[in-house]
Amino acid sequence: MRGEWHTRDVRGLLDALARGEVTPAGLVEHFLERIAEHDPALNCFVTRTADEARTRASRPLAGALAGIPLAHKDIFCTAGVRTTCASRMLSDFVPPYDATVVRRLDEAGAIVLGKTNMDEFAMGSSNETSVFGPVRNPWDLERVPGGSSGGSAAAVAAGLVPAASGTDTGGSVRQPAAFCGLSGLKPTYGRLSRYGMIAFASSLDQAGFLARTAEDLARLLVVTAGADARDATSSPEAVVDYPAALEAPIRGRTIGVVKEFRDAGLDPRVARLVDEALAVLERSGARLVDVSLPRLGLAVPIYYILAPAECSANLARYDGVRYGHRARDVASLEELYARSRGEGFGPEVKRRIMIGTYVLSHGYYDAYYLKAERARALLQKDFLRVLAEVDLLAGPTTPTVAFRIGEKNDDPLTMYLNDIYTNAVNLAGLPALSIPMGFVDGLPAGLQLIGAPFAEAPLLSVAHRYQQATEWHRARPPRFA
Ligand code: GLN
Repeated sequence: MRGEWHTRDVRGLLDALARGEVTPAGLVEHFLERIAEHDPALNCFVTRTADEARTRASRPLAGALAGIPLAHKDIFCTAGVRTTCASRMLSDFVPPYDATVVRRLDEAGAIVLGKTNMDEFAMGSSNETSVFGPVRNPWDLERVPGGSSGGSAAAVAAGLVPAASGTDTGGSVRQPAAFCGLSGLKPTYGRLSRYGMIAFASSLDQAGFLARTAEDLARLLVVTAGADARDATSSPEAVVDYPAALEAPIRGRTIGVVKEFRDAGLDPRVARLVDEALAVLERSGARLVDVSLPRLGLAVPIYYILAPAECSANLARYDGVRYGHRARDVASLEELYARSRGEGFGPEVKRRIMIGTYVLSHGYYDAYYLKAERARALLQKDFLRVLAEVDLLAGPTTPTVAFRIGEKNDDPLTMYLNDIYTNAVNLAGLPALSIPMGFVDGLPAGLQLIGAPFAEAPLLSVAHRYQQATEWHRARPPRFA
C-alpha cells in the first residue's frame, strides 16, 4: 500500500515514527518516490542525495527530528555534496564542510534528501534567475513559486519533503511561503548562524524555514537557533523552548495594523483576506491597534542600494583563481578575472554587482550608500517605536498572489516592488513569518506577522493559535495531493 506520509506535517511524521507506524527508511523511500515522480514537472531539486539518505536512514538516529526527511536550499554548504547557489560560477563547487544550520539539523536526526533550486545567489523574487531554469508553482505550473527559496517552497507544497531550509535577505522565505501556501519563518538577524551560508548581503541575510505549520517551524528553529563561535554576528541571546511556548494564550496580545501596508499596490482581494485574518485574531482574543510606519515607502529604494552594495563586496571573491568557474585560454590575469566573472554570473547578479560597485564608488558613496544607511537606521527606529507599543505587527506578505512565469522578467523594477512588505523587515533585523490566509482565484495568499527582536516565541504562538482557528494551512495543491 502506498503511504500518505506526504500529507502529514513534521509533527504528524514524528508521531508516526514514535508509534512505530513507519521507519525512517520507509519515509526516505516514500519521499524519494514522490521526488522521482513529481520533480520533473516542478524543477525543485538541483541535487538529490538518495544514497546518502538511505545510508543514514539505515543507522540509528537520535534527536528531536530523528528520521524526518528535509531538503536544503542550495545556498547552504553541505560537506561532500555539490553546492551551486544556482550559478554557473559554483556549478562544480563541493564544500569541505557543513553550514551550521545543516550540521545542527543533522545532529537533531534529520535526513537530507537533496539541495533545492533557487534564484542565482538568492537574488530574485521568482526563481527565474537560476542557471537550472525556473521552478514551477505546484498550485499552477504556469506561475512562479516565488523566490529566492522557490525550490524549497515548491518541494514542501507538493509534498516532496515535509519541510526545507531557505534564506531570507529581503523576503526570500516569506514570499515563496505566501505564493505556495506554506508557513515560512525568517528569524531575527543573528538568531541563526550564517556560517556556511553563501553570502549575498551580510547585514541582511538570515536562514529560515518553510513548513506546513507554525508548530513545525518552532521545532526546526529550536534545534538550529543559538550562538555559533564560527559566526561573530550570531547572537548569544538565550534560545527559548519554542515548541513549548506555542500554546501561550493570544488573549491580551496587541497586534499593530500597519496603515502603510494598505498602499495603492496592494491587490484589494489580498487586502480583504488580511481583514478576515485580522478578524480571526481579534475573535481569538487579540487586540488590534492602528499603527503607522511613515518611512516604509523608503524600504525598497534603501534595500536596492544596500543589498547590491554588500553583494558587490561579497561576490568579489569569485575571481576564477581560488574556486568557482575559471575561464579557459586566457592571456592575462586581467582577462582571467573578467572572463571568469563574465561567464560565471548571470544577468541579474551582474546588474546587482554593477549597481553595488557604483553606489560604493568614490563620489557616490556619500550620496547613495551612506544616505541609505542613515535612512535604514530611521526605518529601524520607526519599527522599534511601534513595537514598543504593540506585541506584533500584521499585514500582507506580498501585494499580489503568484504571478506568471515571464511576467515581470523584462522589468526589474516591477520585480523589486514585489518585496515591498518584506524587505523593510530585513533592514530592521526583525523576526517575521508568513502563514496561509486564504486564496485569490485558487492561488494562496500569505499573512505576515512581524515581531520585536528575538520575539520568535510570541510570533510562532500567535501563528499557531491562528492555525488552530483556521484550515488554510491544510490546503494542498490538487495536482500533488
Ligand atoms: N527578492 C529580493 C532580492 O531579490 C530578496 C531576495 C532574498 O531575500 N534573498 O534581493
